Amino acid sequence: MILTGATVLIIGAGAAGFGTAEALRRSGHTGRIIVLGAERHAPYDRPPLSKQVLSGAWEPERARLRTAEQLRQLDAELLLDDAAAGLDSERHRVTTTAGRRLSGDAVVIATGVSPRELPGLTGIDGVQGFRSLDDALVLRDNLQDARHLVVLGDGVLGAEIAASARSQGADVTLVGPQTAPLSWQLGPLVGEELAAVHHEHGVRLRPGRQLDRVITRHQRVTGIVLDDGEHLPADLIVVAAGSTPNTGWLADSGLELDDHDRSVRCDAACRAAEDIYAVGDVARWHHRGLGRSIRLENRTNAGEQALAVAQNLITAGEPAPYRPVPYFWTDQFEIKIQAYGLPSPRAAVTMLDGDLDRRRFLLQYTEDDRVTAVVGCNMPKQTRQHRRLVLESFRDQPAPAIA
Ligand SMILES: Cc1cc2nc3c(=O)[nH]c(=O)nc-3n(C[C@H](O)[C@H](O)[C@H](O)COP(=O)(O)OP(=O)(O)OC[C@H]3O[C@@H](n4cnc5c(N)ncnc54)[C@H](O)[C@@H]3O)c2cc1C
Repeated sequence: MILTGATVLIIGAGAAGFGTAEALRRSGHTGRIIVLGAERHAPYDRPPLSKQVLSGAWEPERARLRTAEQLRQLDAELLLDDAAAGLDSERHRVTTTAGRRLSGDAVVIATGVSPRELPGLTGIDGVQGFRSLDDALVLRDNLQDARHLVVLGDGVLGAEIAASARSQGADVTLVGPQTAPLSWQLGPLVGEELAAVHHEHGVRLRPGRQLDRVITRHQRVTGIVLDDGEHLPADLIVVAAGSTPNTGWLADSGLELDDHDRSVRCDAACRAAEDIYAVGDVARWHHRGLGRSIRLENRTNAGEQALAVAQNLITAGEPAPYRPVPYFWTDQFEIKIQAYGLPSPRAAVTMLDGDLDRRRFLLQYTEDDRVTAVVGCNMPKQTRQHRRLVLESFRDQPAPAIA
């Protein structure tokens, strides 16, 4: 806990970092709030990038989280276009690539993730990842002249990019290792529905396939060869093959990073060390209700975790555990999927409402007699109402201590 007049240093100016700043002010924090952001843009939201911004329905300004006036009223020191390069976790000091030395009574790590790179694709014109506003604008511009877009990766992001680009009339092929889009996350039933929708809208699907090699001419992509030997023409490739937490700058900080994905390991209250917290996509914490450590890459978590951490920063006593019902949504063509909990292809799936033929349905996912998720397709009200099934299945477990 910190005093209301204390300085909070937030690293990362995305939904989670900026959300923490706003939540602190709303809760009456009167001290300095410094927000350091690597991007040159004022804080913006990412979900519209692969939907409204890419499809051209929104001008980029609409993705901004707040207006210039609202930013001014927040009274936070927003330091943009500069990245944290190192953290001294004992002294709560951060050095930046531009040579700044910043410090705070508390530090909040909110640096998000970066697209995972695929070997053999770096430095080739026409190949890009998709995470930032700049990425969305580059792709939107390039799609004006492109003839063939190949999206590598059939998870949420890849499938959304394919849908938005196709809606703009682009010729799109979606390539990925799964049997159908999102099937590793939502199981075969929802995956097959999504595959059918993409197919009906003219997206070419290459399920169960991976990139073998890329074909270039003068360092520009002209096509790719898949692992079954098929050749696909391509003048644009978007790589949407997962992500990596932005924690390189924490290598010498003394904080514990996860062995597997290098995310910031936190206790049940999202605390990585004394008065150092992590929020959003970069944070792995012990979820008491689920009895294990998790990391969520979704917008709702970024906002909710920011609120929880802000409360923990300013409330006296032991910080409260953060135990949300995970939630994400995705929009692809006329389909809206919403998922509460942690669905998995291993779960037994039962239909609670609706029917597949009309593409309006609500599914319950059960593992070991426990409802692990409810997933709705075009049934937002019913899906929300059944969130409680996941909450009721939480069985709180104490968290292991963080070193
Ligand atoms: C295109 C797209 C579409 C999405 N659609 C959905 C959706 O439909 N539904 C959903 O639930 N979720 C969606 N998400 C996920 C959601 O947007 C993220 O979970 C959310 O943005 C996470 O917020 P964050 O603040 O943790 O990370 P970010 O938003 O990534 O913000 C982190 C910020 O930290 C900055 N940073 C990185 N390193 C440093 C450093 N060393 N120093 C300073 N700053 C640094 C980054 O530049 C970035 O601006 C989508 C994500 C993307 C990319």
